[in-house]
Amino acid sequence: MKNVVLLGSTGSIGTSTVRVAEDLPGELRLVGLAAGNNDALLAQQAKQFRPELVSIGSPEKEAELRSQLDGIRVASGDDGLIELATLPSADIVLVAIVGTAGLQPALAAIRAGKDVAVASKEILVMAGEIVMAEARKHGVRVLPVDSEHSAIFQCLDGRPTESVRRLILTASGGPFRETPAGEFAGITVEQALKHPSWVMGRKITIDSATMFNKGLEMIEARWLFGIPMPQVDVIVHPQSVVHSMVEFVDGSILSQLSTPDMCLPIQYALTWPSRAESDRVQTDLAALGRLDFEAPDLARFPALGQARRAGDVGGTLPAVLNAANEIAVDAFCDRQTSFPGISDAVGQVLDRHEVIGQPSLEQILQADAWARDAARDVLALGQATP
Ligand code: NDP
Repeated sequence: MKNVVLLGSTGSIGTSTVRVAEDLPGELRLVGLAAGNNDALLAQQAKQFRPELVSIGSPEKEAELRSQLDGIRVASGDDGLIELATLPSADIVLVAIVGTAGLQPALAAIRAGKDVAVASKEILVMAGEIVMAEARKHGVRVLPVDSEHSAIFQCLDGRPTESVRRLILTASGGPFRETPAGEFAGITVEQALKHPSWVMGRKITIDSATMFNKGLEMIEARWLFGIPMPQVDVIVHPQSVVHSMVEFVDGSILSQLSTPDMCLPIQYALTWPSRAESDRVQTDLAALGRLDFEAPDLARFPALGQARRAGDVGGTLPAVLNAANEIAVDAFCDRQTSFPGISDAVGQVLDRHEVIGQPSLEQILQADAWARDAARDVLALGQATP
């Protein structure tokens, strides 16, 4: 039995994790849950699983939640997340909070000796070197939840990095894989939110449409597996059945295949090193008939080149890329910039940044804040109120 703390229980990854816990009642116990705003769903999940501690983002909702949950401790805000991440009974903490709010809880969990399952790729993009160094220092595992990284993890299966020629991340190509460049300026938020293969949260769905998601995943893979950026490649595979591949030095390529369903990589992260029996995912290759692959179009999807640049340069640049993208995605969703405006803004912010190599966590957080302001400036949004 593994005791699991789930940060971001009300989101897309969070609710899939709840389904996995329902599938495996004898193997997984949810001992802690955190949500941002959705107190109704959090209360429902808490009544179902009876965790030791729950936490809600907004402190105003704490008292009302406590009144509904007899015998369950209730916390809120950043302190609540840290308390959950370091819960003495937890074996593993799954971080599925959108954006960078999961970074401090992930570090706290690692320092408390917990394994961490990471869905929130933003935290590895921002501070992958620090997170992985802390994990080595405290002798804990950072396990991938992203389907691509789970696939690579399964293909590597403990083989040394020297045996790897390339990691090949697959990308569905998103809803605009075949859209001509001339039509990009007219892409609407509604069109960008229609992903062909996956149902996900809003931010990652827009990131999939721009292919920033794949760019962030390249940097995530670089840190998770200790493979230099030039050895991390992307190939477009519209069926999203081959979740990623590893090419070894002898030319052999291993891949992991399954119908797209996040429950599978979530379950693998939580049950690793075992595989738990589950009928949830069935893959009928004969019905599928074919698997297609094509090179990504770097001209229509500049995010891939920007991410490679940020990953190659390293230091504070990946944090800047990530933060600028978050602001630009929000601006697009608020109809304050166009679809191509997202990568235009990120490109301008990358150009303005003076990179710090080997940054401390504080310098990374400063670069993140700087990039958010710079992106608001570039997008003429006005600065955030403190
Ligand atoms: P969602 O937007 O669906 O969910 C985000 C979750 O984070 C919600 O539970 C939300 O709570 C919670 N949250 C936000 N802010 C806080 C906070 N300050 N404190 C506590 N909880 C908070 O996102 P996804 O599930 O799609 O994505 C989560 C992460 O996983 C992202 O980093 C994404 O890149 C990554 N990921 C997602 C995949 C997917 O298939 N969805 C695949 C691979 C990676 P509430 O709703 O209550 O406000």
